[in-house]
Amino acid sequence: MVRSTHTKEDIFRMLSVIPDPEIPVVSIYEMGMLRDVLIDEDGYNVVLTPTYSGCPAMGIIAQDIKMTLDANSVFPNKVSLVYHPAWTTDWMSDEAKQKMKNYGIAPPLHSSCNQDVFHHNIIECPRCHSENTVMLSRFGSTACKSMYQCNDCKEPFEYFKCH
Ligand SMILES: [Zn+2]
Repeated sequence: MVRSTHTKEDIFRMLSVIPDPEIPVVSIYEMGMLRDVLIDEDGYNVVLTPTYSGCPAMGIIAQDIKMTLDANSVFPNKVSLVYHPAWTTDWMSDEAKQKMKNYGIAPPLHSSCNQDVFHHNIIECPRCHSENTVMLSRFGSTACKSMYQCNDCKEPFEYFKCH
């Protein structure tokens, strides 16, 4: 029998420092990946929803969560991956989008993603804020992102696609 000395809020606070391995300026909490913490007689169960199924970082994140909980004496703990409902860029906080932009990645434009890059939206350059940009490739360093180039500052940049 576990005595629940840690609240759900405590756990969220502990885990909010864990960065997204792909975009280290943004935490997994800000990305909206931390869905819930279930506390019952079996212990603490952190519910995590992966961003894109193609993003290979979930193992690292789950490991970081377990290490952080262990370090804070949150026992016993486990991480559950939940794929439904699927993660969406709607779950990203505005702060996360701003940080992503400062980092040089254009954040997703829409809440709902039906009308994304495939519909010729203008993606603003995260560096000089020019709207004179062009898509170079639908896929960037990961399937989550598209490659763009700015025609004004000439810098290539990535756009984090809506999902
Ligand atoms: Zn630019």
